[in-house]
Amino acid sequence: MSNKDLIIAAVFAVVILLVIGAILGVVLVLASKVFHVEEDERIKEVEKMLPGANCGACGKAGCHDLAEALVKGEVKKVSTCKVGKKDKNYDPIIEYMKNHPDKDGTTHIPTI
Ligand code: SF4
Repeated sequence: MSNKDLIIAAVFAVVILLVIGAILGVVLVLASKVFHVEEDERIKEVEKMLPGANCGACGKAGCHDLAEALVKGEVKKVSTCKVGKKDKNYDPIIEYMKNHPDKDGTTHIPTI
């Protein structure tokens, strides 16, 4: 095999990899569109009101998980967040949840 043949084979291999990469990229973009799950926007808002330490002291993987549990009514007490403060975290979350019911009108208002 001559040097010219090696160069052609290398260029061909690179082109094949680029084409495969482009195809997989398109597949990933389409999959992200098809399988996109809309998250309740209240979860993000409640998460912003939590301390953001992501320490896991609440028994959840992080602040996002506790926010989700509070919004879904799976956790009833905001003081489950051990790092939070009444004025800075607990009261604003309770107030927010009072004013933002579920789409079906039900509310999961946590207590301290
Ligand atoms: S205890 Fe509070 S600060 Fe720590 S992860 Fe849970 S919600 Fe976040």
